[in-house]
Amino acid sequence: MLKKSFFGLVIPQFEYERLPAILPEPEKVAASKSVTLFHEKDSDHNSAASIQVGDKVKTGQKISLFADQPSYVIASTTGTVSAISPHTGDFGKTYAAITIDIAENETLDDQFETQAQSPTLESALEYLASAPGNPPLKTLAVSEHPIKTIVITGVDSDLLTATRQYIANTRLNDIKDGIRILKIITDIDRIILVTGRDSIQGFGHIGADVKSIDTTYPAALPPMIMKNVLGEVVPAGKTCDEMGVCFMSAEAVTSIGRAYTGGQLPVHKILTLITKDGNQRLIETTIGTPIKDILSAYGVAIDEEDRIVFGGPMTGSAVYSLDQPVMPDTDAILVLDRAKAAYTSDYPCINCGDCVRTCPAQIAVNMLVRFLEAGQYDEAADSYDLYSCIDCGLCSYVCVSKIPIFQYIRLAKYELDRAKTAEATDV
Ligand code: SF4
Ligand code: SF4
Repeated sequence: MLKKSFFGLVIPQFEYERLPAILPEPEKVAASKSVTLFHEKDSDHNSAASIQVGDKVKTGQKISLFADQPSYVIASTTGTVSAISPHTGDFGKTYAAITIDIAENETLDDQFETQAQSPTLESALEYLASAPGNPPLKTLAVSEHPIKTIVITGVDSDLLTATRQYIANTRLNDIKDGIRILKIITDIDRIILVTGRDSIQGFGHIGADVKSIDTTYPAALPPMIMKNVLGEVVPAGKTCDEMGVCFMSAEAVTSIGRAYTGGQLPVHKILTLITKDGNQRLIETTIGTPIKDILSAYGVAIDEEDRIVFGGPMTGSAVYSLDQPVMPDTDAILVLDRAKAAYTSDYPCINCGDCVRTCPAQIAVNMLVRFLEAGQYDEAADSYDLYSCIDCGLCSYVCVSKIPIFQYIRLAKYELDRAKTAEATDV
């Protein structure tokens, strides 16, 4: 997968995964005892708690912590709520972790069934925001930036991962249904399905244009698709949404298609499991299944200092507990042996320039990193192109000093975003 040049500058080239023509169904892995769902915490609420420990829930039931708040999760199993506890995610974001002990017999909730008969964007927002693939329905509903184009990604944005590619290749009828529903609920007619170069055949008429992209990383990241498929460059500081383009994974579209044609909310997630020996397998599991259940199904032992990553090797996030559940957007679980995990260091930058040469956004990363290390985020944004960064992680990979450049970039963007939101709220 990795090609390194013997001549000139050593800039690594990575190829995305390519699945064989005949694909086996993903192996099914069941949660052993319970599932845990992360419910976003809204800042204010005036009503009493609407779910409590001991409450019984049905599969597909909408659960809100407080009746007067918009956030919710969908129960992915039938059972009894056994715990509601605080959980802190990346960058200190807080959630309520709702644990449901699985009942012996499953009962399906029928609340969505009547909504499914006449699809609307409102009902999709009300029920499908935490469906497999995390459909970005809020983006479709935000009126200051009307969305004119939906791009369905049938390619995985990170390496070693084959989840979206598998879904695009095997769930065509669900994708067709999803596209039909999206057209009804949004009135958006320009829908593009992006696939890998080798898998462009066989899509027939699905109600969307089908375009292929290069198989070299980071061609499947949204800013690269904007440039190479839509011919639009995303200016620094702007998002694809702000340019009227909404990106949605193939799985999110199948979730919409299945929900409205079958009347049931989907609760199973397909993901790629990459184990320490480099073995990759596609699995299907219930949203909320703890990682430990998945690892134990395949006899994967975790030793001290091994690393578990949600997502692929370039842009994934480390997780620190075997109780961490599969989320609606978990496309991959990567288990790295401690001997192979790239550790960060506190060595200083030696100005070798590898990060600059490898950066697809042509950022002077060697300069940018100095401001990020010093926590000078405004300067990093104003003078060193922080917002031109497309979040590919290549700079971190090549850095000889093992500076966690990508993590610094993410933190800086998060902090600046938080400051902007706080300012907007104070006005
Ligand atoms: S993550 Fe690093 S290499 Fe990738 S675009 Fe951003 S600065 Fe450039
Ligand atoms: S790759 Fe690392 S050491 Fe080399 S210039 Fe970039 S930040 Fe500095």
